[in-house]
Amino acid sequence: MAEKTLETLFIDTLKDIYYAERQILKALPKMERAAQSPMLKDAFRGHRQETEGQVERLQQVFEMLGKRAQAKTCPAIDGILEEGAELIEEYGSSPAIDAALAAAAQAVEHYEIARYGALCTWAGTLGHTDAVALLEATLAEEKNADEKLSTIAESANSTAMAAQ
Ligand code: ZN
Ligand code: FE
Ligand code: FE
Ligand code: FE
Repeated sequence: MAEKTLETLFIDTLKDIYYAERQILKALPKMERAAQSPMLKDAFRGHRQETEGQVERLQQVFEMLGKRAQAKTCPAIDGILEEGAELIEEYGSSPAIDAALAAAAQAVEHYEIARYGALCTWAGTLGHTDAVALLEATLAEEKNADEKLSTIAESANSTAMAAQ
């Protein structure tokens, strides 16, 4: 087996997040449908569009590195999304659904922030300067999505609270 280096770790993690982004792309419409407030629905729709751009950025990064864009199963995102799907089943008709969805979506964003944070640092360390710019653009979008969800969660929590 070839030696595992920081470079292979960087490429493997790109494959991990490439898999994750594509799973997220499939999950967001389901979360949009399950959401009750127009504000949360909009946030999911908007972030789905952003995520399409993020997938394209990853494809550009693979291309810059002379690699084929390849996905590697990410058990973490599978688990996080599975938990979200479970919440939709269990809370789908509850006034707490938006509170549940906002929290589930923030778990997704936090995973992405962790991965893109590492990827940005590794790209810089490895001298892949052009990749850093693309990865930082996505990292900024994920942080922004997270903050937006925090704001929406406040009203979702109030809605849930008022109903009990
Ligand atoms: Zn390299
Ligand atoms: Fe993303
Ligand atoms: Fe992963
Ligand atoms: Fe995201």
